[in-house]
Amino acid sequence: MFISRVQGFRSSLQTIKRGSRYISVKSSNDKPYNSSQKGCSKGALSVKGVSSIKSNIDYCYQHNLSVIPQGGNTNLVESATPVQHSSPLYLMGQDSSDLSVDVKNKVITADAGATILDIQQKAQDYNLRFDLDFGSKGTATIGGALATNAGGMRNRISDLVVSMAGVTGNQDYLQQNITERPTIKNSVLPDKQYSWLGSQGYFGFIHHCQLLLKEPSQQEITLLLGFGSLSDSLRWLGRIRQPSLSLAELISKQALSAAELRPFSKGYDYYLLCQFQQSQLESTWTDQLLESVMFWIAKHNLDADVIITQSDVQTQQLLAARESISDQLRSLARSNGQSLLGLDLQIPNHNLHLFMTKASQLATDFWGARPFPFGHCAQHPHYTTVHFNCLIEDSNKEFDRFYIQKDPLLTSFVNQADSAKTLSQFLVWFSHYLNGAHSSEHGGLGSRHLDHTVRYSNKELLDHFVAQKMLHDPNHIFQRDRWNQFLDLYQRRFDSY
Ligand SMILES: Cc1cc2nc3c(=O)[nH]c(=O)nc-3n(C[C@H](O)[C@H](O)[C@H](O)COP(=O)(O)OP(=O)(O)OC[C@H]3O[C@@H](n4cnc5c(N)ncnc54)[C@H](O)[C@@H]3O)c2cc1C
Repeated sequence: MFISRVQGFRSSLQTIKRGSRYISVKSSNDKPYNSSQKGCSKGALSVKGVSSIKSNIDYCYQHNLSVIPQGGNTNLVESATPVQHSSPLYLMGQDSSDLSVDVKNKVITADAGATILDIQQKAQDYNLRFDLDFGSKGTATIGGALATNAGGMRNRISDLVVSMAGVTGNQDYLQQNITERPTIKNSVLPDKQYSWLGSQGYFGFIHHCQLLLKEPSQQEITLLLGFGSLSDSLRWLGRIRQPSLSLAELISKQALSAAELRPFSKGYDYYLLCQFQQSQLESTWTDQLLESVMFWIAKHNLDADVIITQSDVQTQQLLAARESISDQLRSLARSNGQSLLGLDLQIPNHNLHLFMTKASQLATDFWGARPFPFGHCAQHPHYTTVHFNCLIEDSNKEFDRFYIQKDPLLTSFVNQADSAKTLSQFLVWFSHYLNGAHSSEHGGLGSRHLDHTVRYSNKELLDHFVAQKMLHDPNHIFQRDRWNQFLDLYQRRFDSY
């Protein structure tokens, strides 16, 4: 349930009775991942069913209140919580997570409040699979995943959705059936055609959706390869990129060490976790694949090694280790008293080598950060989602506070020394310089990214977003404060023309 899932909601439940309608409200305080909203919102609305959403929106309209939809609040970009000094608003979450499976068509219907894990477990009951995997799947909801166009190791949600329905700020019930593949390729701005996808809570509240399930493939082979260099791993990836490659995770040695996995007797600089699927697997296919891998390694005299999983249990262990990296880094930062900078960037494959090497080197040499990069390479044929995580000493902040700010000669370095902020700005700029994007998955319209989104997106895309907002939510019920910030940034950028 929304309320119990979002830890940190303190205080007691009060129920506001308005005529025959009830609005359940809890006061909200700190959240597991964001703290910017402390004391900023009037409370959390718990909605169940389309009519409940409509009546809550109506109530907010009548009382000039704003609403921010919230799922599991795992987005990491401050998009599901109030901004500082916000106008009176509510957080709106769903109080139901009903699921039903149409086995014949391999489609699951899910309330937006269902978690990714709920959906996977339900699919499993029917011997089917929902292929969206990421570290926060036990808390992240499918509504939040659609609203951020979330991506996992294999797919993005845009590849798996059949239809979405919800209520707009206009109180209109809006159902969108996917007839052509959505063109959205990251999560900076909403999809041009299917506005719920990537909407990030700006247009209304997604209520339910239909999603594609798959039969678990019997013909699946999982490999973990270790390479002495990044270029070798990328060369190999380029070679084996083919339709049967369903999963490809590029993992740096630092990221793998966070997962506490020691697969080979010696360590390598980069690892590739790959999965192939064959519809008509010949019994010798596994041997052939392994043979060709070994042949290629020998032919090119590579410093490389490979393991191939022998059972489903081994495969699941490898995937679980990979999924655990983000969480492990979080606890590492906590226990070392360090800050964790987590960016999800989109980099064109042809610039991946340049990005990984230069970004890692500069982060280490210039900012003294410890980078732990890894990336999803199978979601899109031309782009990789790079999770560029860095551990940064918090002692730098102390240094800022006690020395730099007191010394006029060092004042010019104040911004420089605010390591996390400056490094993050540099990496965002660098990803755009290389024709990438600053939010591959977590959302470009959250407080952490609004500025980058307005600064780097082209005007046509921004204008399309503005038009969609005016169409779906002309009274700015949803995300009012962020929307005003967006307009302010937009005007500042384009008024200067
Ligand atoms: C450890 C960790 C690992 C992660 N790994 C990945 C990853 O690999 N890939 C990835 O894509 N993301 C990842 N994330 C980010 C995050 O989990 C996803 O973006 C997730 O889809 C957000 O879901 P949520 O329910 O938590 O949404 P929230 O964080 O609650 O909300 C996200 C946005 O969606 C909006 N929203 C939420 N519910 C609705 C609704 N019903 N209707 C309309 N708008 C709504 C909110 O207003 C907000 O703008 C990770 C996060 C963590 C903490």
